[in-house]
Amino acid sequence: MDFNKNLTELKENNLYRTFNTISAPQEKQTIINDKQVLLFSSNSYLGISNNEMVKKKVIRAVDEYGTGAGGSRLTTGNYDLHMRLERLLSGFKESDASIVFNCGYMANVGTLSSLCKESDVIFSDALNHASIIDGCRLSKAKTVIYAHNNINDLKAKIDEIRPKSGIIITDSVFSMDGDIARLPDLAQIARDNNLLLMADDAHATGVIGKTGRGGAEYFGMAHDDIDIVMGTLSKAVASEGGFVCGSTQLCDYLKNTARSFIFSTALSPATIAAAIGGIEHILTHPEIIRRLQDNISYFVDQLNNNGIKAASETAIIPIIIGDERKATKASEALFDRGIFVPCIRYPTVKKGEARLRFTLMSNHTHSDMDYAVSCLKNVLEQIESWN
Ligand code: PMP
Repeated sequence: MDFNKNLTELKENNLYRTFNTISAPQEKQTIINDKQVLLFSSNSYLGISNNEMVKKKVIRAVDEYGTGAGGSRLTTGNYDLHMRLERLLSGFKESDASIVFNCGYMANVGTLSSLCKESDVIFSDALNHASIIDGCRLSKAKTVIYAHNNINDLKAKIDEIRPKSGIIITDSVFSMDGDIARLPDLAQIARDNNLLLMADDAHATGVIGKTGRGGAEYFGMAHDDIDIVMGTLSKAVASEGGFVCGSTQLCDYLKNTARSFIFSTALSPATIAAAIGGIEHILTHPEIIRRLQDNISYFVDQLNNNGIKAASETAIIPIIIGDERKATKASEALFDRGIFVPCIRYPTVKKGEARLRFTLMSNHTHSDMDYAVSCLKNVLEQIESWN
């Protein structure tokens, strides 16, 4: 394999990626590549990555339990902390049970590959996250992609195939576009066609719904309208790990069959304690969710008032630039002004759809957001002159 040739090609197409290095906590103001910046791209939407109470719980867990978990959940790595987290998660998501994976990626890959067999059909939204795509690939099921958030296309495809069994899978909040899946319509279609519905609440948890419980709460759906609710503990919850909430039978089945669950060492006590602390903090501080939701409305209004077209009800607000080189340059120009928003390019989004993916945190202030909008306006005005 010619690594050099491949890397040169990536560079020529403005698709080569490098690390930015953070040397301070993941807060709205942090230090990246040795420069103090305002962070407008974190998935730590509720701004609790450096919360003192949560940190105390983590330190206590390390004192009490030590560091590594020492084995997989089914051997010697299942601590009372893991069980507590699963109880907390099923309470938070109002499900009968839950199961914690080592990350959201492993939750999607493990769940889809364990549930879907050769005789099943997976109906997957065109903009679903890569971990869903990989889960579909790893399962032996036939995968049918329906047009993004397009209920008629999904119905037409189901009518054409007439599957005996299968699943509809969607991001609840789409990770690169920030729009919300039409979950009630999807639930109805799933019921009508005897399919399961699975929703990935990674960017919905802690963000949408009155108390931040995600897609089902946002739409006022019953807890069992969505058969499988997947999520991650790495974004608003500010720890690490993935989870699936659903029936007791479903979680028991995954525990016994999901290879990414079975064949990997359990998350460490410190990580689990951070997840427990994060969820408890969310449950006891509903005002941080309200503040995030207020910030979303304010930021979108300010963008539109300044002639920058934007619409979002979630913490993800993409500004589409298109050309990969211009998007990279725009991100660099914002960095020079003290705003950190990396540009998102192929293969995360389609070629020619490069974008600045702004995300908000609940502790951004109006003046932080005003400054970001004025810098963005300034950069967008200059973009046309860049060759
Ligand atoms: N689903 C979606 C929609 C995501 O955006 C992500 C992370 N970017 C994941 C799953 C994977 O979660 P994790 O980072 O915990 O592996």
